[in-house]
Amino acid sequence: MDEADAWQVAGCRIELTIGDITRERVDAIANAANSALRGGGGVDGAIHAAAGPGLLDELRRDHPDGTPTGSAVATAGHALEARWVIHAVGPIWRGGAHGEPELLASAYRSSLRLADELGAASIAFPAISLGIYGYPMEAGARVALATVRDHLRGPSRLRIVRFVLRDASYPAFRDALSELRGEARG
Ligand code: ADP
Repeated sequence: MDEADAWQVAGCRIELTIGDITRERVDAIANAANSALRGGGGVDGAIHAAAGPGLLDELRRDHPDGTPTGSAVATAGHALEARWVIHAVGPIWRGGAHGEPELLASAYRSSLRLADELGAASIAFPAISLGIYGYPMEAGARVALATVRDHLRGPSRLRIVRFVLRDASYPAFRDALSELRGEARG
């Protein structure tokens, strides 16, 4: 990882990497879930496949009505290396005038708060809403990183926030990271 892929904010390191989030050895991984919380395609399907059927059982039992867009719920990690999965529901992109930026920020904020409540020191995020949900990559990457930065400027026990990305979204995150780091330096 070179310096363009990392940013120290308060006591936490924000990292960008390309990979498969289901293989991450962190305290918590975030899932780009849908509001029904019943599994789906993309990263959601990959996380359910790797965690095993206990994950869906727990969601059905504890969250029978799902959770609204912009919110997040935590479950155990089941067969994953991670101890917890934080199921965050980002918005479907509908042109940008339907509250999408605030809903995306809220999905990240809710996840980070849950991670802190659980006592997680490390969390990995996928690029929430930037796949099937169609959120524009550059704008979505900026919202993701700015929301993490703002959370870390308050009290937090997180020491690592890692974005585990696919090739397609990585350049947008890298650009957004360098932009926000530049702003922080003034
Ligand atoms: P959404 O419906 O929120 O857009 P998707 O799962 O379609 O969620 O996509 C979110 C992002 O996760 C996309 O950038 C997609 O390429 C990426 N992705 C898919 N599988 C994985 C995986 N195993 N690890 C990390 N990221 C993944």
